[in-house]
Amino acid sequence: MRSKEIIGKTVDFTISYGIILLIAACAFSSKTRRKIKENANGACAGCEAKVGKDKLIASHIVHGRGEISNGRALCEYCEAEYHLEHAENPQTIGLTKHKNDPVVFGHVTHLDQTARNALIGKYADIWQRVLKRLKK
Ligand SMILES: [Zn+2]
Repeated sequence: MRSKEIIGKTVDFTISYGIILLIAACAFSSKTRRKIKENANGACAGCEAKVGKDKLIASHIVHGRGEISNGRALCEYCEAEYHLEHAENPQTIGLTKHKNDPVVFGHVTHLDQTARNALIGKYADIWQRVLKRLKK
């Protein structure tokens, strides 16, 4: 990979993660986020993997609502999958494509290679459409 491409991808990644943090920070208070993670006892609410509290994400069921009942703790894979599987109809989870696509990209590219390949393989068509929209 040429260095310009690497720099471009790094910038994309950083922007995507900034957006994720922004969205995450907008809806749940830090107290609510902590409570959601504590209630999970270290296990992902999606795949039930015991990943530990520090690796769980306080995930919104519908974005834009900050109450604890609207959240559950997911591992990064399940959070990435949730955003990816809703990438063609993000309004059902309170987002627009413009807001959800960078979140999808950030989460998917942050996964380890095995998990990333599994997820992209499962949602290949949707993933390609997300990338196409992000390139515009
Ligand atoms: Zn999971």
